[in-house]
Amino acid sequence: MKVFKFGGASVKDAAGVRNVSKIISEYKDNDLVVVVSAMGKTTNLLETLVKAHFNSWDETFGIFEEFKQFHIDISSDLFGGPDNVPAPVMSLFAEVEKKLKQPPSLLFDFEYDQIICFGELISSQILSSYLESIHLSNRWIDIRASLRTDDKFREASVNWKWTEMLIQNTFQFSEHHMYITQGFIGSTVTNLTTSLGREGSDFTAAILASLLNAESVTIWKDVPGVLNADPKVFTDTVLLKELSYREAIEMTYSGAQVIHPKTMKPLYNKSIPLYVRSFVHPEPQGTIIHHVDHTLELTPVYIVKGNQVLLTFSPYDFSFITSDDIARVFSMMSKHNLKVNMVQQSAIDLSLLVDAPELGLETMVLDMRKDYEVKYNTGLRLITIRHYTNEKIEELTRDSKIYIEQYSRRTAKIAVK
Ligand code: ASP
Ligand code: MG
Repeated sequence: MKVFKFGGASVKDAAGVRNVSKIISEYKDNDLVVVVSAMGKTTNLLETLVKAHFNSWDETFGIFEEFKQFHIDISSDLFGGPDNVPAPVMSLFAEVEKKLKQPPSLLFDFEYDQIICFGELISSQILSSYLESIHLSNRWIDIRASLRTDDKFREASVNWKWTEMLIQNTFQFSEHHMYITQGFIGSTVTNLTTSLGREGSDFTAAILASLLNAESVTIWKDVPGVLNADPKVFTDTVLLKELSYREAIEMTYSGAQVIHPKTMKPLYNKSIPLYVRSFVHPEPQGTIIHHVDHTLELTPVYIVKGNQVLLTFSPYDFSFITSDDIARVFSMMSKHNLKVNMVQQSAIDLSLLVDAPELGLETMVLDMRKDYEVKYNTGLRLITIRHYTNEKIEELTRDSKIYIEQYSRRTAKIAVK
């Protein structure tokens, strides 16, 4: 059994849905689970809709119409006119509209998940109906009934025990050999919709693969596979044909956006290979990520992560940084939910490079200043270079001011402005 994941870019319009269906049709003799994301930039649009609804803005129903029309246009193209939009898609629109007519609760993250899920629900319904229309028999699954999570809305954690049992019951491969379902969403044990964090569909594919003991997962992308750098930023990229799980985890953790960082662990634990391939040119093999027991050729891999803040802590009384200080500073990071990317210590300073929080940095710093003198620099970029060479470092940092840098045997990390 194979798991396929198609992201938003692959189904951004009717031509995309046809192309994805063509790829799927080539595997119709396999047992298949297809995980699909919301179409194109729908999740961004739904984020705007959630904000409008939550704040009772006048624009709410205008944004809803835009969302609805986008999917009606794609469906009209696929099914022959606006009157042929599949009935399940129409009822999903009605469900969103009904939600929007009710006043929101006071919990933004909860409201977010109750609306954001419709991107994936609708895209998977359109894909499933289209496959049926071209005689590719399949079963649409509402993954929320099987993928169970805690109630941390917008960033829910999987309840593996429940999910394992429910997933294995749902995907039996006896009557059906192809299942179409959603990435990114789940639900609590009391049936409240949750989501796994932006770009979480890759993770869903890995969860399903691991619980169903799949032979492989394939993530179909608009790039030929995993490249050594982001092709939107660099022109001289090369394809990495083979990677170890560890290498892939290091890359995605440092900010490489090609795969969601949480994807690797469930696959690693079950030794399931992950293929990253192009939906534009489906023929070439792309990248395989798996257990590697031989030495791989190590091309420098570089990843740039923006929006970094350097926080520097010093004790007010000019005393040395001790383990107690380090423990206290880290508990502040945890309290404010800050992701630490680099740590460096000198006699009286402790510096941490963190992802800039969405909101409230200044308030956090004020709170930290109760215990330490805190200086901070915003607007930094973190450049991570795996398998670095001096030439590469020089090339990537030439015109920038370096704030903090760190070198291990394999990895260089440099924060610059
Ligand atoms: N549609 C969601 C997002 O855009 C999930 C995903 O694409 O993986 O974040
Ligand atoms: Mg996506």
